[in-house]
Amino acid sequence: MNAVLSPSPSPDTAPRRPIRELPDELISQIAAGEVVERPASVVRELVDNALDAGARSVTLRLLAGGVRLIAVEDDGQGIPREELPMALRRHATSKISNLQELEAVGTMGFRGEALAAINAIADCAIASRAAGQAQAWLLEGRTGELRPVARATGTTVEVKELFFSTPARRKFLKTDATELAHCVEAVRRHALARPDVSFAIWHEGKLLEQWRACGASAQDPQALAQRLQDVLGDDFSTQSVLVEFQAGGPAAAAGSALAQLGHGPQVRVWGRAGIPDAARSRADQQFCYVNGRFVRDKVLTHAARSAYEDVLHGHRQPVYALYIEMDPARVDVNVHPTKIEVRFRDSREVHQAVRHALEAALAAPRAGSSAVVGADGLMRYAEHTPAPPLIAAEAGAPALFPSATPSRWTQSGIPFSRDSAGTGSADRSMATLQALWQPQREATSSGPTLTPQQDNAAAADAGSWPLGRAIAQLQGVYILAENAQGLVIVDMHAAHERIVYERLKTQMEAIGSGPGLSSQPLLIPATFAATPQEVATTEASATTLALLGLEITPFSPKTLAVRAVPTSLAQGDAVELARSVLAELAQHDASTVVQRAQNELLATMACHGAVRANRRLTLEEMNALLRQMEETERSDQCNHGRPTWRQVTLKDLDALFLRGR
Ligand code: ADP
Ligand code: MG
Repeated sequence: MNAVLSPSPSPDTAPRRPIRELPDELISQIAAGEVVERPASVVRELVDNALDAGARSVTLRLLAGGVRLIAVEDDGQGIPREELPMALRRHATSKISNLQELEAVGTMGFRGEALAAINAIADCAIASRAAGQAQAWLLEGRTGELRPVARATGTTVEVKELFFSTPARRKFLKTDATELAHCVEAVRRHALARPDVSFAIWHEGKLLEQWRACGASAQDPQALAQRLQDVLGDDFSTQSVLVEFQAGGPAAAAGSALAQLGHGPQVRVWGRAGIPDAARSRADQQFCYVNGRFVRDKVLTHAARSAYEDVLHGHRQPVYALYIEMDPARVDVNVHPTKIEVRFRDSREVHQAVRHALEAALAAPRAGSSAVVGADGLMRYAEHTPAPPLIAAEAGAPALFPSATPSRWTQSGIPFSRDSAGTGSADRSMATLQALWQPQREATSSGPTLTPQQDNAAAADAGSWPLGRAIAQLQGVYILAENAQGLVIVDMHAAHERIVYERLKTQMEAIGSGPGLSSQPLLIPATFAATPQEVATTEASATTLALLGLEITPFSPKTLAVRAVPTSLAQGDAVELARSVLAELAQHDASTVVQRAQNELLATMACHGAVRANRRLTLEEMNALLRQMEETERSDQCNHGRPTWRQVTLKDLDALFLRGR
């Protein structure tokens, strides 16, 4: 018993040393370890400082991937001579002086450790001329020596031989090329947040990158679009859609999904999001900014991922540049020395805002944009109109991205047909779809067929329809259509599946906690030999089945009878539908059929409701499908994230036939 309390005999009998304060230099070196991991960390800190100083132009010069030299030159407000020595001191900053300021800090740096830390592990020099001063001064970090030099207003910080005093750390560095890539990435992150600042990167005397300033403010959408294109390439621009969304605050529309957020603090999310086709195998083009600061954050990544869930195929990684603006007091940027992580006061509010913003941006069908096949066989989308419909959460949202495209959306996010009288092409095409999809349509009275007048009206419209006019069906799988750009190829099952899926989801959302999907009784119940598992699931999941519009009852101990099916799937094979829903339900715990499981269920149902391959379609049916696609959210991807249609332009066809060469 005593053994527990008595101190165990110490194996090493070194004499106890007195408590002492660590020498300053050691403290700095320890701190440096937190801040500086590799050359790119230095680059980030120095560019942070330059931007905080109001620079309009930042130039980075590197030798040996930054290990031998990192020099950042800016044209900011500079540091007065008398303050220069302070810049290298620990916890010396010009950015905050009290706790209130810490709460609302709007600058990049504020801990006042970066320069001190860097100076502890490298050979530093700062040359600076403060605005309004006649002379520039150079401070040598090693010696503390201060001497006059010639320089325009602004600051240059030079960092030589990183980790020269800590060879163990230096060993962890990768090849120069790798370190260089990280340095460039660090500047890219800044550049994407500040289109109003020019950036240049030199390596070993060669200009690597140069991004010219465009626009007077970081908030200018045109400037941002240009900067995104400069930094991320043309593909990103053509294969992305605008994101603009505002949550919370008095501007939020009553009744919108955001009303749940109440009239609380505002979160604004804007930027650009890659279409599903632009997704990559690696998550290397996912940029998130919170109040102008680049962050990596699980809440944000998860929110984005969940927004893409419904449209992304397999394990592909979406691309996006998202700018989140919120009350600085609601986000703590001080949690990590490298400041790349943040902590939100209410992560749910941010998660929802990001997810809604992306979902809304991605939902709009891009049927109106043209896609061209590049030399690599990949499709490139070019928007005809300046922007796809912008789904501002509220009518009063500032029109930051004026769009020529009429909004296809109501505030609830449900597409409405173009003709408000209710006789528009979408209504007609839906009727046609419903009426014509079934093999024995004569037997049912539901759904009118097209009248000749409507047919003529339809033909007159053909040129203006984004997905064009159907001309043929290929091998029972593809629909070929002609539009202004050339040829459109549609995977009919994939497209129809998405349409049915979206309808089911909309119906499900509309009913909320109501009775469930509308259901249509079968005149003759469809019976099938069921497995014990199927019988058990039928009993256990009766409520869920009712919600889905399915009525399945035991007919005999080994037989189940389908007595009613969802109205919108009335034409499908009732038994197959029942079996796959039961199989799906058996996998999920019925009591926890949450949103995701529910969507999976609806997707399964949609697959059964969708037209099968090898079903011959009339031109009317094909056209009805095309019109429906144009009106349906996310119709560019099937439920599994694969594309539903492709454009082959006349130019592509000409190239195929070597015309005009
Ligand atoms: P912090 O940025 O957290 O304040 P730093 O160690 O990075 O701490 O910088 C210390 C101080 O030096 C800053 O607060 C700022 O006043 C000054 N400073 C650093 N770099 C620059 C620069 N490029 N231009 C003007 N002032 C600078
Ligand atoms: Mg700093």
